[in-house]
Amino acid sequence: MTQSQTLLEVRDLTVHFTLRKAGLLGKEAKVYAVDGVSFDVKRGSAYGIVGESGCGKSTTALALANLLAPTGGKILLNGKSMTSNSRKEMKEVSKGLQMIFQDPYSSLDPRQRVEDIIAKPMRQLTRMNDKEIADRVDELIKKVGLRPEQKTLFPHQFSGGQRQRIGIARALAVHPDLVICDEPVSALDVAIQAQVINLLKQLQKEMGLTYVFISHDLAVVQRLCDALSVMYLGRVVEQGNRSEVFSRPLHPYTYALLTADPVKDPTRRGSVKRLRLEGDPPSPINPPSGCHFHTRCPYAQDICRSESPQLRDVGRGQHVACHFVKMVDGQPVSPVSI
Ligand code: SF4
Repeated sequence: MTQSQTLLEVRDLTVHFTLRKAGLLGKEAKVYAVDGVSFDVKRGSAYGIVGESGCGKSTTALALANLLAPTGGKILLNGKSMTSNSRKEMKEVSKGLQMIFQDPYSSLDPRQRVEDIIAKPMRQLTRMNDKEIADRVDELIKKVGLRPEQKTLFPHQFSGGQRQRIGIARALAVHPDLVICDEPVSALDVAIQAQVINLLKQLQKEMGLTYVFISHDLAVVQRLCDALSVMYLGRVVEQGNRSEVFSRPLHPYTYALLTADPVKDPTRRGSVKRLRLEGDPPSPINPPSGCHFHTRCPYAQDICRSESPQLRDVGRGQHVACHFVKMVDGQPVSPVSI
């Protein structure tokens, strides 16, 4: 049987929390952390989820990794539901999906030696014997660029970048189909970030890995990802292939993120109108009506405050949720460019 090209399907994913305000009679408030998110990830590709802090990207990652129960929608990995209840099925699902965490300092058990940290998922999720596990640990240590003798050391004996390499080795130990990378380089220096991204790229090529890559940094996503979704206050505002989204950002929010720091992208310096975002995103508790972005969007009009724009297909695989992206001569044009 041939495998489908799509490894991960996310449909209408919602994660809503209820918060009770202080006091016995405190009112309940609903947090719309993730609100109807859909995307597909192709086998062997890297998919980016981007946005500012509080946009719902890390909550999406936790729901994908089964570390948080969605309140609605579907997640299918290899066509199988990841919200199944049977223990046996969940064990299979865990094997197919591993996570690399943001903080290489707190995500490794400080009392365990590196060889035990990397061996743990194999002991928990496979029937490999001790010899097979030890061989695999040696192979992974080498693959992530550490020295063989370092396997007996403890996490505190490594730098931040090396600890993230250990986290990567642990995630790859059980040959996962999908690796969820939650801001894996944001705690590292820029030079070390580049090394870790290059390592992730190289491992992807060698092992045919599929990544979902969560980041607030579009430059990082541009280097690694084939396609992406841009999230704002729990919703996807734009999605598409890397080449389309980076060469013709259509949603004013994507445009603002891309032009926020022109020094990072010297090719854009001077030639592109800069859109600066004022203030922080509003709270996902009682988010703004209509288009959630209207409180910060310089192009907002009355309809933006009352009607929520749907994510619509504008061609070449690009989708955008903005009332004022217009089709001109068959091409979508952003309100920023009109
Ligand atoms: Fe701005 Fe309106 Fe478009 Fe939202 S729908 S991004 S508020 S122009």
